[in-house]
Amino acid sequence: MTANAIPSLLIANRGEIACRVIRTAQRLGIRTVAVFSDADADALHVAMADEAVHIGAAPVGESYLRGERIIAAALRTGADAIHPGYGFLSENAAFVDAVEAAGLIFVGPSAVAIRAMGLKDEAKRLMQAAGVPVVPGYHGDEQDPDSLAREAAQIGYPVLIKARAGGGGKGMRRVDDPAEFTAALAGARREGEASFGDPHCLIEKYVDTPRHIEIQVFGDSHGNVIHLFERDCSLQRRHQKVIEEAPAPDMPAAMRAAMGAAAVRAAKAIAYEGAGTVEFIADASEGLRPDRFWFMEMNTRLQVEHPVTEAITGLDLVEWQLRVAAGERLPLTQEGVRIDGHAIEARIYAEDAARGFLPATGTLAHLRFPEGLSGVRIDTGVRQGDRITPHYDPMIAKLIVHGPDRTSAIGLLRKALGKTRIAGSVTNVAFLSRLANHPRFVAGAVDTGLIGRDQETLAASPPASAEAAALAALASLAHLAPPNSSADPWSSLRGFRAWGVARQTARFEDENGTRRDIVVSDRGNRRFSVAAEGETLDLTVMGADAEGARVSVDGHVFDAGIACDADGQTVFLEGEAHRFRHYSAVAHAEEEGSDRIIAPMPGLVRLVRVQAGDAVKKGEALVVIEAMKMEHSLVSPRDGVVGEVVVAIGDQVEDGALLLSLAPEN
Ligand code: ADP
Repeated sequence: MTANAIPSLLIANRGEIACRVIRTAQRLGIRTVAVFSDADADALHVAMADEAVHIGAAPVGESYLRGERIIAAALRTGADAIHPGYGFLSENAAFVDAVEAAGLIFVGPSAVAIRAMGLKDEAKRLMQAAGVPVVPGYHGDEQDPDSLAREAAQIGYPVLIKARAGGGGKGMRRVDDPAEFTAALAGARREGEASFGDPHCLIEKYVDTPRHIEIQVFGDSHGNVIHLFERDCSLQRRHQKVIEEAPAPDMPAAMRAAMGAAAVRAAKAIAYEGAGTVEFIADASEGLRPDRFWFMEMNTRLQVEHPVTEAITGLDLVEWQLRVAAGERLPLTQEGVRIDGHAIEARIYAEDAARGFLPATGTLAHLRFPEGLSGVRIDTGVRQGDRITPHYDPMIAKLIVHGPDRTSAIGLLRKALGKTRIAGSVTNVAFLSRLANHPRFVAGAVDTGLIGRDQETLAASPPASAEAAALAALASLAHLAPPNSSADPWSSLRGFRAWGVARQTARFEDENGTRRDIVVSDRGNRRFSVAAEGETLDLTVMGADAEGARVSVDGHVFDAGIACDADGQTVFLEGEAHRFRHYSAVAHAEEEGSDRIIAPMPGLVRLVRVQAGDAVKKGEALVVIEAMKMEHSLVSPRDGVVGEVVVAIGDQVEDGALLLSLAPEN
């Protein structure tokens, strides 16, 4: 870095991105300062930084969104610059103004550029003027529901309603049927207001067979702008990315050139400095074509998925950000940037795919990432034992793989997911594994609707196999402890019996609360007969350690991961995590016969759609809760009649709180 223009950097963020920025800063010899809330005092990003400053309570509005406290922390610690990461204050123009007014460097674009792209409607008007193709739609000021409905009819259904201040898929509703327009608009407005304090919406044509393809751009303060090729982010759930890759599958060279040029035009139109992403939507109904992509928005910051670009270009984008912020020129010209191989990123979240990707919380009692696999990178902000709280994004890690071509990258992805073992919270790891095996993904035939169409199969965890159950039983009966693992002389004699076969029963309940009894017969020499799931397996333990076991079942040798805790066992097998809780008769007596609608996580009651006495159908939405700035509908588990409604709109509810109950069936 020239003359060390940024000797000291404050990172105004948390989690994996704070850790990732700190890593590059450290490599460049830059002193790092972290900030943290009450909930993050022991967080990894704090531990990694040279210094850290407490900035407030756990809610983001009292800590990570408090620009003035962050600037005060920078001044107090003598930091020269502030890196905002993504989210939080990264696209807040007023914050940039305040940072600069305090005599500090903001690692990112100018406040003017952020404002220009901040609202989706104004950005579209600007891009149209700069000759960048934009999605047909209504971007005007009129907000009256009837006139917006008329605009929607004119655009032609299906349409997409978007909160103009939206981001992260929030405040967005697809509408297929004009009759649903008003309700959808109200939902988008509510989410826009709740998340961004702005209910203003725009309407777009819903693009057919949409593929989300975005271009990474970089500008410097000397007027240079280049692009670092594309990322395909079409694999999305609830309009949020889960798997991203670069380059885009089957991208024609002419289209790459056209998109790159359009993105550079977009960035130049606002004299862009630093890292930015121009997001386009492409109509892939007849394959990718250079005349079928349109500007959606520009993100004026580093993206979550930037590592796939780093993998295929061999560059460190955070280093580039710091160099540009220090006033240097871009390190390369357009001709100097090359694509090498193929990279894929999978976002690992604490979320329940089977329950509509509901964010989850919990303590990461067991956390293992693949180690020693070449071509695999893990970006995380948590360690084993850390908590995923409801205060922040439930991302656990990003898994990035890089191979010589797409097929090998997918192979690496599967392997790395198989070695990612997390217990203590529901995660999407198994969902990602299934996605990595989805025939259309494997073929590169991705579009943003892929996950939604196959959600049920992708989200459904297969029932635990007899093998998994047998391993859980062996672990719970302490048959998998390594030999001589304790001082107890009898432990080395495990399996020795003076008379006959020792028979023991492990009693579990599976994910669905179904009780399972597994009978283990110890035949000596680490050989067992295990009766589980109506099968009897002949199983030999070939080796075992604290992480898992290598076993032979009827001549098939394989590895499984096993994590034990006070409540039970988690068996990791073929990309799935099967949880076996110790069966508790007490808990079951309490739940019996209840038809209680329970809050799945802490949140705010947004809507109560029914009253006591209403007849409801199975699957009908009863209550809408807002948690982590997303709305979640809680549905009726069966046809019936509402008994009691316990909550009202505006109530703040805890995880597990009773919301309403159905009247008993008879
Ligand atoms: P956000 O700012 O909330 O991320 P975007 O405008 O970037 O919202 O859109 C998010 C996603 O929604 C896109 O990646 C794409 O999958 C889908 N999407 C957006 N606009 C359209 C459209 N006009 N037609 C079809 N899908 C769209």
